[in-house]
Amino acid sequence: MEKKRLLDKLGRPLRDLRISVTDRCNFRCSYCMPAEIFDKDFMFLPRNEVLTFEEITRLATLFVEAAGIKKLRITGGEPLVRKDLTRLIEMLSEVKGINDIAMTTNGSLLAKHAKDLKQAGLNRVTISLDSLDDERFRKINGRNIGVDQVFAGIEAAQAVGLGVKLNMVVQRGMNDEDIIPMVRHFKDTNIILRFIEFMDVGNSNGWKLDQVVSKKEIFDRINKEIPIEPVKPNYTGEVATRFRFKDNENEIGIISSVTDAFCSTCSRARLSADGKLVTCLFASEGHDLRDLLRSGASDEEVMDRMDAIWSGRHDRYSEERLNHTDKKQIRKIEMSHIGG
Ligand code: SAM
Ligand code: SF4
Ligand code: SF4
Repeated sequence: MEKKRLLDKLGRPLRDLRISVTDRCNFRCSYCMPAEIFDKDFMFLPRNEVLTFEEITRLATLFVEAAGIKKLRITGGEPLVRKDLTRLIEMLSEVKGINDIAMTTNGSLLAKHAKDLKQAGLNRVTISLDSLDDERFRKINGRNIGVDQVFAGIEAAQAVGLGVKLNMVVQRGMNDEDIIPMVRHFKDTNIILRFIEFMDVGNSNGWKLDQVVSKKEIFDRINKEIPIEPVKPNYTGEVATRFRFKDNENEIGIISSVTDAFCSTCSRARLSADGKLVTCLFASEGHDLRDLLRSGASDEEVMDRMDAIWSGRHDRYSEERLNHTDKKQIRKIEMSHIGG
């Protein structure tokens, strides 16, 4: 039976749930968790505030029941720093109605876990890789981790049959000269590379509009060297604009949340590691579900709360962003709490 569809105030369904399993990470990417802020004194969530695997699984089950979601994405911080993550994947893969479980990861710990994750029911991974240049990559990740370690993760994921996509956040003056080498490197593989416009997420990455390399510029720079053409979206609400190489059938994507916002079809909800339901990547705060669970609420009560939160949603930050830039800064949740 088709489940009822929850619609928000702008008529957008809830289709896709992203679950952050930790606010911690073994990298310190300058655009996400800059080392000077996320240092040894930084207060990460204490363990008792983080959702247990049982709580996450119960919430996922109720999201299926309340909204008919079919897809889950596990994220972080870095999801693979959470102990026993494979067990969570196993638990989620048993939730009836979920037919796709993906994970976004920096890939550095993937070689060790890929086989168990696949066996537990993980279908796909999106691996973040911002440069092929080892020196630059070590600088960007702030932890002196080499490109080889991520390549080992990519190879392990492919070897066990996980679907693999790559994300590259493009920041002018930081890694924009890596766009073409990345395209050339992955063009003849079965890995889809997606470029992401540098976003003003959180409050700590010192974002400025002139550091954004726009979708148009990324397209022009690639097209000049390696001709590409647009491809129709796979489905409504797909965030990446798709392009195909003219000389083979392979694709790349560009995610343009800054210069060409896609709020009108945004059907994603995010669950933070401490159990807050966040209705926009740029929200100031989330809506608590953890304390509701821990207070002994029934399934019906939790689903009513999910329903009320989504029905009241009217977020469209990216479509309004350019009106905000000269005004007072809005306080936003850090990316490492909700995982992109
Ligand atoms: N640690 C994992 C990883 O890096 O893939 C998962 C969490 S990370 C927050 C999810 C994605 O958000 C990554 O692909 C990362 O590159 C992207 N991201 C983080 N900060 C960003 C920013 N300011 N602008 C655009 N993308 C960003
Ligand atoms: Fe960690 Fe991912 Fe953020 Fe980099 S982008 S600091 S890997 S959470
Ligand atoms: Fe969705 Fe908010 Fe991003 Fe718009 S700004 S696409 S509403 S997450």
